Amino acid sequence: MTIAAPDRAALQRAFDHALAYLEGLDQAPVASRAGLEDLRAALGHALGDAPLAAEAVIDALVADVAGGLHGSQGGRFFGWVIGGGVPAAIAADWLTSVWDQNACLHASGPAAAVVEEVAGAWLKTLFDLPAEASFAFVTGCQMAHVTCLAAARHGVLRDRGWDVERKGLAGAPPIRVLANADRHGSVDVALRILGLGTDALRPLALDAEGRVSPDELRAALAEGDGPTIVILQAGELNCAAFDPFRDLIPIAKAAGAWVHVDGAFGLWAKVSPTRRTLADGVELADSWSTDGHKYLNVPYDSGLAFVRDAEAHRAAMTIATSYLPAGGGVARDPIDWNPELSRRARGFPIYAALRQLGRSGLAALVDRTCDHAQALIDGIGALDGAEKISGSGLNQGLVRFLAPGAGATQADHDRRTDQVIAAINASGEALFGGVTWRGRRCMRVSVSNWRTDEADVARAVAAARAALAATN
Ligand SMILES: *Cc1c(COP(=O)(O)O)cnc(C)c1O
Repeated sequence: MTIAAPDRAALQRAFDHALAYLEGLDQAPVASRAGLEDLRAALGHALGDAPLAAEAVIDALVADVAGGLHGSQGGRFFGWVIGGGVPAAIAADWLTSVWDQNACLHASGPAAAVVEEVAGAWLKTLFDLPAEASFAFVTGCQMAHVTCLAAARHGVLRDRGWDVERKGLAGAPPIRVLANADRHGSVDVALRILGLGTDALRPLALDAEGRVSPDELRAALAEGDGPTIVILQAGELNCAAFDPFRDLIPIAKAAGAWVHVDGAFGLWAKVSPTRRTLADGVELADSWSTDGHKYLNVPYDSGLAFVRDAEAHRAAMTIATSYLPAGGGVARDPIDWNPELSRRARGFPIYAALRQLGRSGLAALVDRTCDHAQALIDGIGALDGAEKISGSGLNQGLVRFLAPGAGATQADHDRRTDQVIAAINASGEALFGGVTWRGRRCMRVSVSNWRTDEADVARAVAAARAALAATN
């Protein structure tokens, strides 16, 4: 079969645009320049009646989004926790679209199913998770929480003789959820989706380092004896705090609780020989959520759920109907483990990223980003008018900017911080985000892109210096 010339041209044009985009990252402004109204005007074409040539559609799309893309694929994007894409992962993601497999069953996507089998086993080894743990390749950490906590809901109610998949939650023993007070908002959303409700949450107070202490966990557990889920964190968003898993998890298990860990980016500390102690003991938990699209640097739409009790996981997710040919216990059907039915074969980019990087490349990626984060925090924190708020436990940290004058108030410093962040971002040299942390405005420094190098760090520090001078 030959591809018709106009269609071939569309694919070829997309490829050319993609390379030009990547090659232009270093020169292009990091933050998007286009305003909301600009983008609405550029993209808001009337939907035509007549078809257009595919090539023209692609060229117009590229022209119309110009200025409306953040350079998050580049090395000076330090906002949120975003990550870029390693080349093998981007390329495999293209092929995933071209192959267009429906990765719900082995029968509907044979190679896609096996790639997940293989990559899932690699990941368990990399994270030190139990070999018997089940897993699911989901859209992001949000859905990984939903998947893991659905398994948890099954597990803690099964232990009380209640089949939640059949009976639902009405009339079930109430589940209480003890969770790190600085948990990510996606945990709360998962509890809402699963019908547990945020009223079930009992926040666990944190020590000065942002960690749950054994005494706090013991006290919270002693408040009740119903089915209990404990949610801990590997890598908090602002300071990358890690809960002391080796101390906490045995306490929770002794009380019969299910322990879930949000390790969206922090679980990746496990792949670095020098950083792995941060997540020491995390492997003792019952379920783990993490992301592929952040630290592993695969394109978006990539989260990972792991569950120690595979039967609880399968019970919560399987559809097991007669019209769908089951893998017969031999092949692994993603549908038994995933919240979606039809789905993108998102194992391919993960598999490709892991193969490209290898163990040492993965460790180097984590170590390098941690070192760069520290260099940014130290470099910017040392500037006149700047202050370091937290070091980088892993690849995240905080700085802030101080209003001049002895009489400057907290509110003045907050305003000054937002003003400097805006000036850095407007320079196009780097992008940082702001956060209110423990009552003060701060600038978040987050390094999770494989591309970031020393030159990027130097450019970002210089941009901060210039912004401080220009806005003084
Ligand atoms: C990003 C993040 C999440 C949510 O992950 P998504 O992939 O955006 O769904 C959850 N927890 C933490 C700590 C995160 O950083």
